[in-house]
Amino acid sequence: MSAPSPSRYGLGTAELETLIESWGEPRYRVEQITDALYRRRVPLEDATNLPKVLRARTTEALPLAFDVATEATSTDGETIRWLYESVRDRAQVETVLMRSETRASVCVSSQAGCAMACTFCATGQAGFERHLDAGEIVEQVVRASHGSPQPVTHAVYMGMGEPLANYDEVWTSVERLHGDLGMSARHLTISTVGVVPGMLRLAKERLPVTLAVSLHAPDDELRSQLVPLNARYPIAAVLDAAAEVAGAHGRRVSFEYACIAGVNDTLQQAGALARLLRAWQGVGGAHVNLIPLNPTSGFSGRAPTRARVRAFAERLREAGIGATVRRTRGVDIDAACGQLRSRHPIAEGTPVSTTMEP
Ligand code: SF4
Repeated sequence: MSAPSPSRYGLGTAELETLIESWGEPRYRVEQITDALYRRRVPLEDATNLPKVLRARTTEALPLAFDVATEATSTDGETIRWLYESVRDRAQVETVLMRSETRASVCVSSQAGCAMACTFCATGQAGFERHLDAGEIVEQVVRASHGSPQPVTHAVYMGMGEPLANYDEVWTSVERLHGDLGMSARHLTISTVGVVPGMLRLAKERLPVTLAVSLHAPDDELRSQLVPLNARYPIAAVLDAAAEVAGAHGRRVSFEYACIAGVNDTLQQAGALARLLRAWQGVGGAHVNLIPLNPTSGFSGRAPTRARVRAFAERLREAGIGATVRRTRGVDIDAACGQLRSRHPIAEGTPVSTTMEP
């Protein structure tokens, strides 16, 4: 089954203008429809700022790209995860909304599946299906904002997929989140396992988005086992590119580190990681987010104890590297860049964990 094109959030401003003018509507309707699509935080079907007939026409002309397959809310109500299914080809992606008293963030997918094959990652284990287009990425953010009492101010590209392997669509979505939704570039975080050419492109972009680099190991030998892309872009090249982005954007880079018991969680490895990042010349220094591994069916590794993760963080801090242990509540959906589980539908009401520190 194929959906009519374009999807609801797939048009840029000029294309939307052209469409609405082709209906013989006055220009001010463009602004009204833009307002209804992006700023009202209600589904278009409920946007009462539009006359009924125009609302119906717009809704029909611009169908949603995704159906909701499942929706799961954490027991404390702070985290909601959606498994979406593409109307066009049934490809599945996940989106996570994380709320606190002060803000709401959404974690978006940039691809259905992922070709990077990181060994510990459920998305990588399932393989690559296809790139998402910019409209599909924007739709995830807009629909999450409909489910949030607070305005969604932050978006992190840490769901399914490697964002910099889908550069053009991801960057178009960044510009649209900034332009159409009014989100600050510094509140948009692109996460990568180290696609160096993409990072260097990012350094040249006008909008100073935040970069997160998934490191996961302090040396090339181990990192190549966990992140096959490391064979192509080893740690030194990734850190050089990260320094370039940090310098160009004037933003601190964060380094994500999935902690796996007996694999990368020793204090010696913490010391090696600290030495590596102390020598790094990026603007604002490095900050490490430690993420206890979530179990996945295709990888036998498991998370270290909380005490061990805390000790690892403490060793980093003693060496002058900022470190945060990512908070989890309930079980199961964490984490940076893809422990999301599109192949494993989520039962309604399943408790979930947060992916971000507050
Ligand atoms: S960790 Fe990220 S880059 Fe690696 S396979 Fe998973 S989604 Fe892809």
